[in-house]
Amino acid sequence: MTESKLFGIIAHPVHHSLSPVMHNAAFAELGLHHYYHAFDVQPLHLKAAIEAMKNLGIAGVNVSIPHKEKVIQYLDEIDDEAKAIGAVNTILLQEDGRLKGYNTDGAGYLQSLVAETEINLPQTKALLLGAGGASKGIAVYLIKHGCREITIANRTRNKAEELSIQLEEYMNDHGIVGKIACIEWKEASSSSINFNLIVNTTPIGMWPNIEIVPIHLDHLESNTIVSDIVYNPLQTLFLAQAEQKGARIHQGLEMFIYQGALAFEYFTGEKAPVDRMREVVLERLKQGG
Ligand code: NAP
Repeated sequence: MTESKLFGIIAHPVHHSLSPVMHNAAFAELGLHHYYHAFDVQPLHLKAAIEAMKNLGIAGVNVSIPHKEKVIQYLDEIDDEAKAIGAVNTILLQEDGRLKGYNTDGAGYLQSLVAETEINLPQTKALLLGAGGASKGIAVYLIKHGCREITIANRTRNKAEELSIQLEEYMNDHGIVGKIACIEWKEASSSSINFNLIVNTTPIGMWPNIEIVPIHLDHLESNTIVSDIVYNPLQTLFLAQAEQKGARIHQGLEMFIYQGALAFEYFTGEKAPVDRMREVVLERLKQGG
């Protein structure tokens, strides 16, 4: 029998997370005797939770809202890409006992966006709603794959500005020429006409608060893609409104599956059973999350 290891997710709140159901089904599919648990970790207890990971021998965790940025200071090592992004969503306890952080959000997002929309990134003017951990990964991956114009709108303006400086530094370091801008959160609705990719990276519209939208899409470019990384519900009100206005839409589910599959590969060294992961998540969502 293979060795059993404990994995998990640390987030607050965490009860809504579908990561346990997805990873446990993936372990079972490959005949691995591991277990993945949801750990509800309040911000005040983040440091202790990371220390506990080492002390208890927890082999790996995913990190979600609101810990992706703050967790970095407690890790021994950060993968170069996660360092550039400034957020970690996957932590691995290495054989030498050191904790290493990775980020699979950006790669998961890009993989699903390209697969589902065939977007032409060099021709894309993107508006990112939100400047948190997920937004950072998405922004770096958009740039890495050719997008040269990104505007950020965030409720807390200075976080948008910090992210824009970080992205400019990333472009300088990689010899990329592009344009990063910030606008006020309340300006975003009236500015939507200027963009052909609009991405909601905030939790607005997520179950149970499904009746709210991050912005009203006053006007849209023809062929605009509206993308929402919230995946519960599958079709958020924001996406429903965008579709009514003639936009192409991109749901958050496939990002969730791909970021999870990449994390699973870090955890186990095995190729993730993506179809099974998608199947159990969809089943759970149909039962109401
Ligand atoms: P985070 O680091 O805590 O960032 C949250 C962002 O949303 C911040 O920019 C925050 O703005 C903004 N925000 C939160 N509540 C808001 C409100 N009521 N009005 C306006 N802005 C608000 O969280 P995260 O890890 O980036 O996750 C964000 C969302 O993405 C979550 O719903 C998460 O479940 C989802 N997500 C989905 C996937 C997927 O695979 N589909 C992957 C990662 C994350 P302030 O700076 O003003 O606080």
